[in-house]
Amino acid sequence: MTEPIHASPGCGDELDPTSLSVNEALRRILGNVAPVCEAEPVPIDEALNRVLATDVVSTMNVPAHTNSAMDGYALSAADIPAQGTRELQVIGAAYAGRPYESAVAAGQCVRIMTGAPLPPGTDTVVMQERIERRGDGAIRLDGRLQPGDNVRYAGEDIREGQAVLAAGRRLMPADIGLIASLGIAKIAVHRPLRVAIFSTGDELKPVGERLEPGDVHDSNRYTLRGMLQRVGARINDVGIVRDTREQTRAAFEAAAAGQDVIISSGGVSVGEADFVKSVLSELGHAEFWKVAMKPGRPLTFGRVRGAVFFGLPGNPVSVMVTFYQFVQPALRRMMGETETTGLRLQATSLSRLKKRPGRVEFQRGVLEQDGSGALVVRKTGMQGSGILTSMSHANCFVILPQDCSGVEVGEPVEVQPFAGLI
Ligand code: AMP
Ligand code: MG
Repeated sequence: MTEPIHASPGCGDELDPTSLSVNEALRRILGNVAPVCEAEPVPIDEALNRVLATDVVSTMNVPAHTNSAMDGYALSAADIPAQGTRELQVIGAAYAGRPYESAVAAGQCVRIMTGAPLPPGTDTVVMQERIERRGDGAIRLDGRLQPGDNVRYAGEDIREGQAVLAAGRRLMPADIGLIASLGIAKIAVHRPLRVAIFSTGDELKPVGERLEPGDVHDSNRYTLRGMLQRVGARINDVGIVRDTREQTRAAFEAAAAGQDVIISSGGVSVGEADFVKSVLSELGHAEFWKVAMKPGRPLTFGRVRGAVFFGLPGNPVSVMVTFYQFVQPALRRMMGETETTGLRLQATSLSRLKKRPGRVEFQRGVLEQDGSGALVVRKTGMQGSGILTSMSHANCFVILPQDCSGVEVGEPVEVQPFAGLI
């Protein structure tokens, strides 16, 4: 008889009772981070992608004046003929930026251009295509017109005193335009987060250096830098850290100084060269989690001095998946953003997707529309956690739930477009 082996669950096992669910891990992370309090004023032309620290309240009506939506003639609704036609005398012209300021009496009208304020005594605009121009400075109109037609009212877009953008909003181009339309030149935004990063591994070589057998180029710091630049973080790059206790400790000391967040990659497994966890528990506080996800099972979360720490796995795809699923929502919350969930859609799978029940899988896909406009998704070739081309060729994650046991061609799947991830 052979003795049974008492093994602990490893990365290859699908069902591991010691693993946290993806949702639970995210809930714990978000529950453990808070927005940085300091705000700073910035001119609006530097405010794109920053997060509002206070509500933007309008000090005026937009539009400021009731004005014409068309090129035509401004008149009083009382002059619209109930039947037949009526002639009105054209007594002047109003242009955008050059109003006609005298009163307009019954039987009179004013030539008006789009955006020009409505002259006193008028409340309706007839389109120039709807009238007949007469030689004697008059126009003839019929009854195909309702009172108030073609008029944009003062305050119809925004009322004075209305909060137009709420604190916690990440500013998009339309928001900046909106703030400009209110005449506001400077706004208060949360200060950028300070984020330190480093890569761990004896096998890592900087770009530009020749690889010896067994070496790999350090790519994780570059994907991390890209993802951090998108969220608007100030990056302190600590570089490559060798797999020794001393170097790992020194890296943490250097990274923790004055930073809000530290992110490392690699060294969080249970291998013999994995020092992140033990150094972290000496210098700070560590929670080491196995998350029921693929790729990216080992994830460390904790604190060192004042900084929040994320220890991401080393595999390049795992770094990106764990960043987008856990780190980015946390950073966005720390930056004061209130809305941090990305868009998720349903699409029909054009590929057969292999999967065993037990973990949530974040496969990489290409989302597009078929000939009839319906959303379809296909996978990007090999899906190993070291295959970075699977991310580079993709434009979305295909999220397969924990209990899913594979997807056949034609079945619906949930996708998370990269476009919604910042
Ligand atoms: P680790 O989590 O340290 O065991 O690393 C897992 C795998 O990811 C190994 O194959 C490493 O060589 C690879 N890896 C770790 N760090 C990096 C990095 N910065 N750039 C590219 N590959 C990495
Ligand atoms: Mg390593």
